[in-house]
Amino acid sequence: MSQHPAASALDVLNPATAEVIATVPAASPADVDAAVTRAAAAQRPWAAAAPADRARMLRRFAAVVDEHIEELAQLEVREAGHTIGNARWEAGNVRDLLDYSAGGAERLLGRQIPVAGGIDFTILEPLGVIGIIAPWNFPMPIAAWGLAPALAAGNAVLLKPAETTPLTALRLAELALEAGLPEGLFQVLPGEGPVAGSALVDHPGVAKIVFTGSTRTGKHIMTRCAERVKRLTLELGGKSPNIVFADADVAAAAAAAPMSFLDNAGQDCCARTRILVERPVYDRFLERFAPALAAVVVGDPADEKTQMGPLISAAQLERVRGFVDGDRGADTVRTLLGNAPEGPGFWYPPTVLTGVAADAPVAVEEVFGPVAVVLPFDGEEEALRLANATDYGLAGSIWSRDIGRALRVGQGLRAGNLSVNSHSSVRYSTPFGGFKQSGLGRELGPDALAAFTETKNVFISTEA
Ligand code: NAD
Repeated sequence: MSQHPAASALDVLNPATAEVIATVPAASPADVDAAVTRAAAAQRPWAAAAPADRARMLRRFAAVVDEHIEELAQLEVREAGHTIGNARWEAGNVRDLLDYSAGGAERLLGRQIPVAGGIDFTILEPLGVIGIIAPWNFPMPIAAWGLAPALAAGNAVLLKPAETTPLTALRLAELALEAGLPEGLFQVLPGEGPVAGSALVDHPGVAKIVFTGSTRTGKHIMTRCAERVKRLTLELGGKSPNIVFADADVAAAAAAAPMSFLDNAGQDCCARTRILVERPVYDRFLERFAPALAAVVVGDPADEKTQMGPLISAAQLERVRGFVDGDRGADTVRTLLGNAPEGPGFWYPPTVLTGVAADAPVAVEEVFGPVAVVLPFDGEEEALRLANATDYGLAGSIWSRDIGRALRVGQGLRAGNLSVNSHSSVRYSTPFGGFKQSGLGRELGPDALAAFTETKNVFISTEA
């Protein structure tokens, strides 16, 4: 997929100012190959260690991350434009996940299965070397979602961060060494997707790829993995509905709706960007929603009061503009706007379109920016039809005071992460992943370690 000569270094920009803040060397396929050899050598003794020792080491790693929360958060603000409040949560999520996964190392249980003529049991063995390919939208947490359970289950990890956001990943690798993790067990390979990412995907020494990113790249990686029957987890895009029924607390739903898609400037795969409102409360919802949208504080991400920062890059800004200015399929469009600073930096205001056609690109494709549409509906059946009318199925919210209705509609929604009277989707202790083209497999939650193991079945004859 590479259309240009491979870069030897990557410039990292502060998206709030468009200034270069660092330059890091880009990994070549030869660097990836050498890293796989080192990782494999480190993995063998790590897998053979007592699970309690692995757990202790991961808890120490968590403690070192905890001592560096503020530093990691400030780095995330500078390289990804995240608000400082969010960035602290993200660094804390890495710590929590390491702690949570450490507990799993000793509870990775096989099963004893009743059979005739002997005793049968299963062993969960580590896969070996895991390749994690991460996106730029949540560089730290998404890396940790694979890293922590993979290490706990006895694997080594090679992490390729996104081109635009390698700095927190590199710092995490330093902190791992500081915590005493063996050399080579967790390595970071900054580089270009079609070069370093591709080399990881194709390398025979990498047992599994955990990819988070666009559906387009995910499909490409899936075809490459198919050639080796390589294990694969995919966390891809989303276009999630926020369904507001007439019997909901409309004021609460309208107050919560802006940040349900403006968090991380809308560069969030769970963003509730399709707001479906039952017709009897459509006008009442918009009356409350418009001022809430205008009140969102957009600006310097390092300021504690800021709720929304910039987009990640000039390319992302162009992409978002294209969706809003493109074909909206109707001439009844009304635009609600929030605030945004002028450049430099990659700024775009909170933007909500009403009156668009339900099948317009902006209504069904992932924009990955601070843009949502509001569509009216009549009754549960139409709500479900509209909600499910995309290729994606990652998340969704249902606002209703009738719990029976919320559960009924929830059963009909083809999405992996639902919330009722809330927009919360991500907890380290609950499974996360998508239906349809939003992904394959699950991360987080009580089964996270199992995704980094192979099941071996053993039968012992009692008749010999
Ligand atoms: P992307 O697909 O362009 O890149 C993701 C990663 O893949 C990067 O590290 C990139 O360098 C690498 N890559 C690119 N081409 C590659 C190739 N040929 N071989 C191997 N690796 C390659 O996505 P992005 O623009 O960084 O991230 C934004 C997208 O990610 C959005 O569509 C968003 O919805 C999605 N996303 C999904 C989730 C989820 O959990 N479902 C989470 C975050 C982001």
